[in-house]
Amino acid sequence: MRERRRLRVTGTVQGVGFRPFVYRLAADLGLSGWVGNDSLGVVLEAEGPVDALDLLAERLVAEAPPLARIESVDAEPQVPTGETGFTIVDSRAAGAPAVAVPVDVATCADCERELFDPFDRRFGYPFINCTNCGPRYTIIRSIPYDRAATTMAGFTMCADCRREYEDPADRRFHAEPTCCPVCGPQLSLLSPDGGVLAKASEALDAGVALLNDGRILAVKGLGGYHLACDATDDAAVAELRRRKARDDKPFALLVDLPTARALCHLSPEAEAALTSPRRPIVLAPRTGTGVAAGVAPNLPELGLMLAYTPLHVQLLAGCRRPLVMTSGNLSDEPIAHDDTDALTRLGPMVDAILTHDRGIHIRCDDSVVRAVARRVQMVRRSRGYAPEPIGLPTTAHRHVLAVGAELKSTVAVAKGDTVVASHHIGDLEHLAAYRSFLQAVDHLCSLTGVTPEVVAHDLHPEYLSTKFAADLELPAVGVQHHHAHIASCLVEHGHTEPVVGLAFDGLGLGTDGTAWGGELLVADLDGFRRVGHLRQVALPGGDRAAREPWRMAMAWLAATLGPDEAERYGSAVDDRWAAVLGLAQRPDVLRTSSAGRLFDAVAALLGLRTRITYEAQAAIELEAAAAGQPLAGPGGYELDIGIGPEGLLLDPGPLLATVVAERDKGVPVGQISAGFHGGLGRGAATAAARVAAENGLDTVALSGGVFQNARLTDVVVTELEASGLRVLVHRLLPPNDGGVSVGQAAIAARRLR
Ligand code: ZN
Ligand code: ZN
Ligand code: FE
Repeated sequence: MRERRRLRVTGTVQGVGFRPFVYRLAADLGLSGWVGNDSLGVVLEAEGPVDALDLLAERLVAEAPPLARIESVDAEPQVPTGETGFTIVDSRAAGAPAVAVPVDVATCADCERELFDPFDRRFGYPFINCTNCGPRYTIIRSIPYDRAATTMAGFTMCADCRREYEDPADRRFHAEPTCCPVCGPQLSLLSPDGGVLAKASEALDAGVALLNDGRILAVKGLGGYHLACDATDDAAVAELRRRKARDDKPFALLVDLPTARALCHLSPEAEAALTSPRRPIVLAPRTGTGVAAGVAPNLPELGLMLAYTPLHVQLLAGCRRPLVMTSGNLSDEPIAHDDTDALTRLGPMVDAILTHDRGIHIRCDDSVVRAVARRVQMVRRSRGYAPEPIGLPTTAHRHVLAVGAELKSTVAVAKGDTVVASHHIGDLEHLAAYRSFLQAVDHLCSLTGVTPEVVAHDLHPEYLSTKFAADLELPAVGVQHHHAHIASCLVEHGHTEPVVGLAFDGLGLGTDGTAWGGELLVADLDGFRRVGHLRQVALPGGDRAAREPWRMAMAWLAATLGPDEAERYGSAVDDRWAAVLGLAQRPDVLRTSSAGRLFDAVAALLGLRTRITYEAQAAIELEAAAAGQPLAGPGGYELDIGIGPEGLLLDPGPLLATVVAERDKGVPVGQISAGFHGGLGRGAATAAARVAAENGLDTVALSGGVFQNARLTDVVVTELEASGLRVLVHRLLPPNDGGVSVGQAAIAARRLR
């Protein structure tokens, strides 16, 4: 079968003869297509037989030129074009998709060398950048991308910078944000009320001294402000939690590579992600000590990132210790990126503000990936990834705007054969996030040249995104939440055939008015049928049930083991148990089949957490409790699979009975957690395999926020593959609601054919 793939190779792949190497390899394998450089490395498209394409990906790594160091190879399916011959294209054309707004790229090795070279004219200058690195998406006001359209417009290049910029042989040839200490932005250190304490290198030195002294600093980065402190200082970390009003949610750490290796187990995949020019935060299993316990309470993982701006490089070099770098905001508000706003919001929380006069046009949070056994999973796709286009396995004949869901919001636009997802916007429940959503829509449309002709939205009428869509007065396509989840997974795999979709999620409105979240669908981009689901229980207290997992424990106990068992549990954990038990038994209370809420219930039953302080905390801690346990878990945990009015009914009743019985016997929580994960995962896989057999399907797609759980994902994937099924899991997009906009866009594009 003939296929076309786009491969992106990152690492040291420019100036080492990589493009001619790819050209020879493609010729050897009889593939057509092209290869070029772009800001992240080398990008190529190749078309031909599947086995030749597989060989290409293998040989790219195995036979790479001696000076090349490959960090990652990402493959993405494309629609075959029937192109013949293979060419080396110039850098500009390599951004092949119609929309090519570059992403922000971490400081390159050449620039870092100059930063520390006392004889270089940019020695110690924290805004050093070049053609291969520096700010892009966050400083671009409009397209086409040139200096006048960026927040660098106000800085007139000096004669030296201009000469480099105009010299095709210079490594700053047409580097739009290029600058130097003579002509570019300057650093300043401000007091919390905005008074200037120091400028330029003195500002940096004073900032470093404050951090080393246990103080809390706001630091202006690439896509917004961070709050920073010494990560080894218990008191500083505790004080930061207090001022930010953040109870338990883990803080990310800015570290150098040796420290990262000392703190965490880094698989080759994790290290590749960590060192890639996209520089996401990498969640990896911790192995070492050396940071304050308050950095990531109760969790076996740490979030690490390497420096990605010259300023971060200098802060680390000055402090010589891991630094907390957490988004500059109060609790769940959007990250501060505007200078005036930052002073108002962050001033009261910090001892000083390390800032500069290069504007951030659009906020962009750090991206987050999670390193799990032999792969890396996207958790938050933002800086370094957005707004990189994703191939659409269908053509959008009209411009589509997809407005996403509500939590972890992103928006997306589709035109032609690509879809572009925005940066992470956040939870639209907050007014400030809604304002940020409006900006994101405008910015994304203008950067991609999209004038929305159709809007795709969630079915939930109360989401602010849905209301926004209704106000646009455009043809609208309402997309069921879990259909959008599964579609997002199909998009990234370029899959257009029907699949079994297993959507394990928090809450999403179903077509029957109940809250779905444990769904088996037969779906493609055109539509879906619900062919099974988790048993439904009451959601006692609506939104409060998500914040107070003990309520879900009450609902599940009442439904499966009876009200006496619910009373026994509830009366020991909360005074309001009788009222909640009443709600759990009322037939008119909103019902849910949410898998996420089932995890909450089990976490609560095991005494891990009755109330949460950040989204999915109970489920995250339940997975964490099972760390080190064998994947299969102990026996005796069984999901019952029966037939309900809407296909298969997955009943966790027997599973919960075992959980409760084992807990009462005093079996360690980690072992029970592993049993629960194993039982639920095996049961879900069995049900999905049955649906596949009954419908003549050979592929299962997994999506929904619950699949951020690596243990559950591994159980399900292992079981399905053992049954001979092909399994599609997310790699480019997060399985959570951050990916929903892309699924919506694809479904709308398809519906308009
Ligand atoms: Zn550079
Ligand atoms: Zn200059
Ligand atoms: Fe969802």
